[in-house]
Amino acid sequence: MDSNLNDLYRDILMDHYKYPRGKKTLDNPDLENQGQNPLCGDSLTVQARINNSVIEDIGVSCVGCAICTASSSMLADIIKGKTLDEVKEIARVVKHLLKGDKVDSDMDLGDLEALEGVKKFPVRIKCALLSWTTLIDSIESWESGRKLRVVSTE
Ligand code: ZN
Repeated sequence: MDSNLNDLYRDILMDHYKYPRGKKTLDNPDLENQGQNPLCGDSLTVQARINNSVIEDIGVSCVGCAICTASSSMLADIIKGKTLDEVKEIARVVKHLLKGDKVDSDMDLGDLEALEGVKKFPVRIKCALLSWTTLIDSIESWESGRKLRVVSTE
């Protein structure tokens, strides 16, 4: 990882990279989607179980660079137990954070703040965003009543 990232941010990112949260496969997920970032070679699968519009459980399997893996881990960490609307709001804030836009939210970002360091490296923004866009796509598609992928129930 680049040494220009400030030390605190780098430590948080490396911790998520080494010990990714939510790295598991769910049985009978309500939604499942795959994301690819060919620029870097990142590839991931996001699964979630949803109960009453709340993310009851989340699994993210990421094969990618440190930033993609760390961001996926943070996603799994923060969105479990959140409503779908809250998840969309968090994803919106993350996008602003990564693009260096003003974050117009008083949400407690926790470890997500470390992603702010990524904005100095524009080519890595896609790495950090991949899990978020993959999840939001599948939520929107789930809400509109169609699954992106037919999930095997065997
Ligand atoms: Zn990457």
